[in-house]
Amino acid sequence: MILILKQTANQEQIQALIAKLEARQLTVHYSRGEQSTLLGLVGDTASIDIDNLRADDAIEDVKRISEPYKLANRRFHPLDSQIKVGERTIGEGFFQVIAGPCSVESAEQLTCVAHSVKASGATFLRGGAFKPRTSPYSFQGLEEEGIRLLLEAKRQTGLPIVTEIMSDSQLKDFDEVDIIQVGARNMQNFRLLKALGYIKKPILLKRGLANTIEEFLMSAEYIMAGGNENVILCERGIRTFETSIRNNLDISAIPLLKRYSHLPVVIDPSHAAGITWMVQPLSRAAIAAGADGLIIEVHNDPKHALCDGAQSLNPQEFSKVMEDIKRRANFEGRQFDLK
Ligand code: PEP
Ligand code: MN
Repeated sequence: MILILKQTANQEQIQALIAKLEARQLTVHYSRGEQSTLLGLVGDTASIDIDNLRADDAIEDVKRISEPYKLANRRFHPLDSQIKVGERTIGEGFFQVIAGPCSVESAEQLTCVAHSVKASGATFLRGGAFKPRTSPYSFQGLEEEGIRLLLEAKRQTGLPIVTEIMSDSQLKDFDEVDIIQVGARNMQNFRLLKALGYIKKPILLKRGLANTIEEFLMSAEYIMAGGNENVILCERGIRTFETSIRNNLDISAIPLLKRYSHLPVVIDPSHAAGITWMVQPLSRAAIAAGADGLIIEVHNDPKHALCDGAQSLNPQEFSKVMEDIKRRANFEGRQFDLK
């Protein structure tokens, strides 16, 4: 980290600043030029609050030269991480497809979708029990009953389940859930992220609608800092000025996340597109750009879905898309886990 000092800073202020930094176990390199005076900081700068430093009377500006995240950082963990979920593995060449309805609506709906996605080769079942809806008047999910139905579908199909948590107070209902999803709207719910750091279950962390890659990785860092390193990153589209699609799939997030982090990356083409016909091309793009998996919404009767019907594939459409995904994942050297 480099601190650029104000031209008006006097020796007394500079010495006080250096003493303050050294007290934090940082080594300070002082460099006085004709135009400006710089302090180079070496050591653990991740815990430094830049805004706090900027408030110092002697400081003009602060530049970070290393990323503020450590545990999620590839610099300190050069190899790709593999996350184990029961018998399955995601990351470092192992590819997974998570499929199922946006929300769990009934036993009939979930059982029908679970059996059909399994038959097409999906390796995890998704389904929201606690739903973060934009309107308080929309269907909010079956809550605890939804989790019970997911566990029943898991018992019938053998598919491990992925479902979303909205608050740390719900953790007691997630004991038997295989992967806990943190939705886009909760990416910066720091209290929830901290609580998930104290458990060992894999977490599928979705990127917020308008969050930078650095903010996304800092949220992963929150979970990892508590001791839970089983984090899977999920890009699900971001807000842009474009109005003809629901969100914009940020394909460049895949190589960026892979460059800066060792964590697996899953793509959600359903929420990115908001329309069924775009799920297949976005899935192809995700595989080609290096994704480790996909999460896709499937409904037995999309027209009557209680949530996200417009982007939900029906079982026949999903089966076709899956054929294509399997071919392309194999072609790209990803090991497709069909257990
Ligand atoms: C979901 O997966 O159904 C969901 C609500 O996703 P997101 O948080 O990405 O909007
Ligand atoms: Mn949805």
